[in-house]
Amino acid sequence: MTHLARHYIAGQWRNDGGAQATSVNPADGTIVGHYVRGSTDLVIEAAAAARTAFFASPWAASPRLRAQAMFEIADRLEAAKDEIAALIVAENGKLRAEAMGETMAGVSEMRYYAGLARSVRGTMQEIAPGALSLFAREAAGVAGIIVPWNAPVTLLVRSLAPALAAGCTTVIKPAAQTPLVHARIMQCIADAPSLPPGVINSVNENGIEVGQAMVASPDIDVISFTGSSATGRKIMEGASKTLKRVGLELGGKAPAVIFADADLDKATKELTHGSLNMAGQICVAAARFLVHESVAQAFEEKITAAYRAVRVGPGADPASQMGSLIDMPNQARLLRIIEQAGDEGQMVLKGGPLGGPLNSGAFLTPTLFRIENLQSSLVQDELFGPIVSIETFADEAEAVAKANATVFGLAASVFTADVARAMRVSRAIRAGTVWINSHLRLFAEAETGGFGQSGMGRLHGVEGLADFLETKHVYFESGTIG
Ligand code: NAD
Repeated sequence: MTHLARHYIAGQWRNDGGAQATSVNPADGTIVGHYVRGSTDLVIEAAAAARTAFFASPWAASPRLRAQAMFEIADRLEAAKDEIAALIVAENGKLRAEAMGETMAGVSEMRYYAGLARSVRGTMQEIAPGALSLFAREAAGVAGIIVPWNAPVTLLVRSLAPALAAGCTTVIKPAAQTPLVHARIMQCIADAPSLPPGVINSVNENGIEVGQAMVASPDIDVISFTGSSATGRKIMEGASKTLKRVGLELGGKAPAVIFADADLDKATKELTHGSLNMAGQICVAAARFLVHESVAQAFEEKITAAYRAVRVGPGADPASQMGSLIDMPNQARLLRIIEQAGDEGQMVLKGGPLGGPLNSGAFLTPTLFRIENLQSSLVQDELFGPIVSIETFADEAEAVAKANATVFGLAASVFTADVARAMRVSRAIRAGTVWINSHLRLFAEAETGGFGQSGMGRLHGVEGLADFLETKHVYFESGTIG
C-alpha cells in the first residue's frame, strides 16, 4: 500500500499539482503518510475527463454496466476492509469498531445502489387521445462530490453510489484530514475492471481551492456536499454563478426528548452511544438532552454514571470505548467551550484531556452541563464533540418547542412508553430523521437529510437518486386508430 495519496484522473494516478502535505494520527501525533495537494488546473482536467466519460463512454446509458462496476467496487472494498478500517483509525482517531462499521456500511450501500441502478424508471401519460408524454429520468451529468473527514467511507459512498447508479460521472474531493483512507478506496475503484476511465475522478484538497474550483466549474452539473452549514452556505453562493444544482447534507444539533414514562435505562444506553459515538463528531449525534422535569434528576444521575464509565483512549486499543477527536486544534476549541459551559450553565461532568502518556493525543473526556437559556450559543451552535447539554421541560408542547428551537433540523429522538405520544411528537419535530426509543440508526435504505439549515435534498434510499437525475418530457403524437 502506498503511503502517498495521489489524484486519480481519467483512469490514471497522478502526483502533480501542489506540494506534498502530511497526514497526522490525532491519537499520538505520528505521521500516517503524505498526500499530494490538488490545484484548480487538476479540477479542470478531472471535470473535463468526467464530461468526456459522460458523453463518450457507454456509462450513462448502460444500467447493467453500472451495476456490474459497482458490485466490483463493493467486492474490492470488502476485501480491503481491514486495511481501510486501520487507516480510518490512524487518520481519524475513531474506534476500530466504528471504522469497521462505517466501512461495511459503505460496502452494503454500494451494493444497494448497484441493484437500484437497474431500476431507474420514468413514467408515461396519455395527455390527450393519440398524444403521449414520456417522462424520462436521465442522469444529471457530472456530479462533484465533496466529503468531510468524520466518516470518510460512508459519506463518500452515500453520495457516490447514487450518483453512479443514476448514470452520472464524478469528480471527488476528499477531506484533507483523511487522504490515505480515500486513496485506499480509490485503489479499489481503480481495480474495478468494468469501470470506464473518467467515470470516477479524484483530486486532493489544497486548502479550500479544490472545493471552490469544483463549485465554479462549468463542466460540473451537480454538487453533492456533506459538511458544515457554514461551508454549505458558501457552496450555494458559489454554485449560483453557474446555476448548478446542489445537494447539501449539513450540520445538526439533535435533541433527544425524554418523557417521564420513558425507560430511563434504555434511554441512557441509547444516548450514551448516540452522543459519544465518534467522540460526538457526527452530524446526527444527540447534542441536547431534553428531559421532563419530574425525571430530570434521575436521568442526569444515570447518564452521568454512564459517561464517567466510558473509557476514552486510542481507537486502535480494543479496550477503548471512545476514540480521539480529529486534531489538537479541535481539542483546544472544545476546551474553550467547556469553560463557557461552566460560566453560562451548571457543570454536571467536566471533560478534559487524558493527561499522562496520552496527553499529546487529541483526547477529550465527555462533558455534561445544565442550561436553560435557549438563546445561548451552547444551545444554538453545533459543538461537534463529546459535550452535551441537559435541559428540562414541563409538558409536551414545551418539549416540542424546545426541540425545534435551533436553526437545525437533521435528527432527533423521542423516548416514551406511550406509542401515540411517540407518533405525535415525532411528527411535530422538524427534523429529517426521528428515532423512537433509540438514537443513531442509519441504513442505506432509509433517506437522511435536513430540515431548515441542516441542508437540502436527501441521500440514502430510493430518493437519494433524485439528487443526480433530471426529468425529461418527451412528447409524441401517435395519432388514434381509425
Ligand atoms: P467543513 O464544512 O469544514 O468541510 C467539509 C468539506 O468542504 C471539506 O472537504 C472541505 O475541504 C470542503 N470545503 C471547505 N470550504 C469549502 C469551500 N469554500 N468550497 C468548497 N469546499 C469547501 O466540514 P468538516 O469539518 O469537514 O465536517 C464536519 C461538518 O460536517 C459538521 O458540521 C457536520 O455536522 C457536518 N456533517 C454533516 C453530515 C450530514 O449528513 N448532514 C454528515 C457528516 C458531517
